Amino acid sequence: MFSGLTKTRDQFLGAVDDVLKGFKKIDEDLYEELEEALIMADFGVETTMNIMEKLREKVKTEKITEPGDLKLALQEIITGILTAHEWKPLVEEGKPNVILVIGVNGVGKTTTIGKLAHQFKEENKNVILAAADTFRAAAIEQLQIWADRSGVPLVKHEEGSDPAAVVYDGIKAAKSRKCDLLICDTAGRLQNKTNLMKELEKMGRIIEREYPEAHKEVLIVLDATTGQNAISQVKVFKEVANVDGIILTKLDGTAKGGAVVGICENLNVPVKYIGVGEKIDDLQPFDPKAFAAALFE
Ligand code: GDP
Repeated sequence: MFSGLTKTRDQFLGAVDDVLKGFKKIDEDLYEELEEALIMADFGVETTMNIMEKLREKVKTEKITEPGDLKLALQEIITGILTAHEWKPLVEEGKPNVILVIGVNGVGKTTTIGKLAHQFKEENKNVILAAADTFRAAAIEQLQIWADRSGVPLVKHEEGSDPAAVVYDGIKAAKSRKCDLLICDTAGRLQNKTNLMKELEKMGRIIEREYPEAHKEVLIVLDATTGQNAISQVKVFKEVANVDGIILTKLDGTAKGGAVVGICENLNVPVKYIGVGEKIDDLQPFDPKAFAAALFE
């Protein structure tokens, strides 16, 4: 299921196995080497320290003496961190849904929107897209390609038009077509935080005013290959908007999958989906237990 995690797993598990095989008993040197393996997989310093502290405690309370047994102990600790958030489905049944997708350019926002549209359409949901990233003509064109690919309609305006007006028209179209789900692309320009905040606030107001019956989610798309940088992006976006969930892309192309654990621990925002490739089917709901197991199997 987690074929996209191969690189992270191979590096991380390889490093952990090497460490554990190299020691006959659990001592400070072993802890230090394990710590390094976690850092290399981009768990982040803070999360690594926390995991190591929990591991030491577990070794004491469970009287673990064999280095080989530390693997299961680590897996249990990581599973605990990843399952701290309850996974709620993105789309609420029986009411219309609006998803605002935010994130900086290049993280895989357009691709992810296309994948989500495809996935929900496969579930027999009536989906519509809105190209509210009006800042770049290329963004609108790219989204059109993904809308065609997934066979869902796209509401779009000219480049440079008011994104909130696109959302407004998207809502109108969603209502008249009785859509279950409207997914809006947005421009992720962090360079100008005040503008971004105003833009997102305005879109939020339009949704509240025009579509009060709808369930709204703001999802941030992050590129897993940027590891710990992804965490700082969420922190900045959280200053300008409520962020309800994370989609982590490009896990297939990185050995930094450990960043997921850091993200779950640090940000208090649940990871909802992971992108594991460039194709339309390469998006999976994030299953924390399966993810933790995949790191160790
Ligand atoms: P945007 O600028 O954020 O809209 O990014 P795009 O959707 O255009 O994606 C940027 C690049 O990342 C493209 O080449 C995508 O094919 C690639 N991409 C997106 N998601 C994934 C993923 O999960 N895995 C891989 N390997 N590539 C991805």
